[in-house]
Amino acid sequence: MHCLNHTHCAETAIEQAEQVCLARGARLTPIRKAVLAEIWSGHEATKAYDLISRLSTAGNVIKPPTIYRALEFLLAHGLIHRIESLNAFIGCDHPDIAHQAILMICDTCGAINEQSNEALNQLITQISDQQAFKTTHQSIELHGICQRCQAG
Ligand SMILES: [Zn+2]
Ligand SMILES: [Zn+2]
Ligand SMILES: [Zn+2]
Repeated sequence: MHCLNHTHCAETAIEQAEQVCLARGARLTPIRKAVLAEIWSGHEATKAYDLISRLSTAGNVIKPPTIYRALEFLLAHGLIHRIESLNAFIGCDHPDIAHQAILMICDTCGAINEQSNEALNQLITQISDQQAFKTTHQSIELHGICQRCQAG
């Protein structure tokens, strides 16, 4: 996804996360918010070790478990999605609505475009139901070249 004003885009996402947490009685602590803001620094995948190095300062080295706990919280509240194929994370811009993400990952520029499709989800449910398979986690990731990279 390529937005026109990313500062606005990221600020909106953080504000939305605050509202979602407030509505659910969950606490977006400073470290959770810092991790979310860092993930929202762009529309590319962010790895846990990137977060550790970017959020640590000379006088304050953030320990991996701190980052992992913050990531677990953000995942649990749907504020971010895990990108299984990259072992990385991306912010979600509609955490207030229950959905299954389809992540389109550009292998040229790294931009990730999130979409969701109810018909596709119903089809997946139908297929798994037919196999009496109880799905606990669903991940749809498409790798390829985004519209912008194809044009360039
Ligand atoms: Zn943006
Ligand atoms: Zn999402
Ligand atoms: Zn691209």
